[in-house]
Amino acid sequence: MNINLSHKIELNPNNKQSNFLARACGVSRFTYNWGLAEWKKQYESGLKPTGFGLKKEFNAVKKDLFPWIMESPRDANSQSFADLQTAFNNFFKGRSGYPVFKKKGCNDSFYIANDQFKIDCKKIRIPKIGWIRLKESLNLSGKILSASVSRSADKWFVSISLSMEITPVKIENQDIIGVDLGIKHLAAVSNGEKIEGSRALKRMEKKLKRLQQSFSKTQKGSKNREKQKRKISRLHYRIRCIRLDLINKLTTKLSKNHSVIVIEDLNVKGMMANHKLAKAISDMGFYEFKRQMEYKSKIFGSHIIIADRWFPSSKRCSICGNINKDLTLSDRIFKCPSCSSTIDRDLNAAINLSQYQQLMAA
Ligand SMILES: [Zn+2]
Repeated sequence: MNINLSHKIELNPNNKQSNFLARACGVSRFTYNWGLAEWKKQYESGLKPTGFGLKKEFNAVKKDLFPWIMESPRDANSQSFADLQTAFNNFFKGRSGYPVFKKKGCNDSFYIANDQFKIDCKKIRIPKIGWIRLKESLNLSGKILSASVSRSADKWFVSISLSMEITPVKIENQDIIGVDLGIKHLAAVSNGEKIEGSRALKRMEKKLKRLQQSFSKTQKGSKNREKQKRKISRLHYRIRCIRLDLINKLTTKLSKNHSVIVIEDLNVKGMMANHKLAKAISDMGFYEFKRQMEYKSKIFGSHIIIADRWFPSSKRCSICGNINKDLTLSDRIFKCPSCSSTIDRDLNAAINLSQYQQLMAA
């Protein structure tokens, strides 16, 4: 079986290389915006533009009109037309809004096809620039598909996509567990285990709050404001790294040690109606959790079951099955009015999830 995975690695470029990367992002943005403007123009004059057609037109004039583009890797300009076509396809199918022009500093990135770069231990060779150091080596093996270089805060990253051939491992322990993703902690498992967030993370979140408060007091356009802004974005980045690391460890542990893992399908619309809960869910990275569980279960041979969104995992008593309609979000302890059991709210939900298949079969 083949699965596609990607590994995002921080780059360690020198100043000259950083400038080069920024210029390649600029080329990618420029080409995309050129294509979009041209698309609109052609459409208004009654033509039916395509990404491929625009690319041909661009290639015919680029050397004469935009010679500076040739200093960046080829794909920095050529891929933009495929991206533009994808953006329009998404728009036509109602999956997203009308494509908009790219802005400098927003999602700066450029693409490199697999025949255009090389990876050697902790280095990557990018066309027209040469070798750039990587902060860690590629930890996946398989057929390399492509790379995408991007900037986040003041750091550079390369995300390498691979296709991996995997043979699921047989898990000895044939158990079923339910996992409830929490607000107060990262997750509760039906076997009684609770996975906490980290203290370092809580400290950083408090620090972030303070920084954001002092930022709001700085004067617009001042040097101090810029400095605060950079501090905030660096801290955001560190927080994201810690969260990802936690999710990574949790998903490996779960998919490696249990044969069936039942998780909730969070009702996104319902979540967004409750702002506080929405924030907690997005902070805890539910989507990242689900994504990792899905691919790791393939690697480790475990099985993921996503409970129907209407399954009352929180309101059902895991001991007698009675539904407690009066349970509110602030109740941390589940008290069953029918059998008078009391149990931690999240543990109760996790146990209900572990019984999901049985209940559905009954
Ligand atoms: Zn009960």
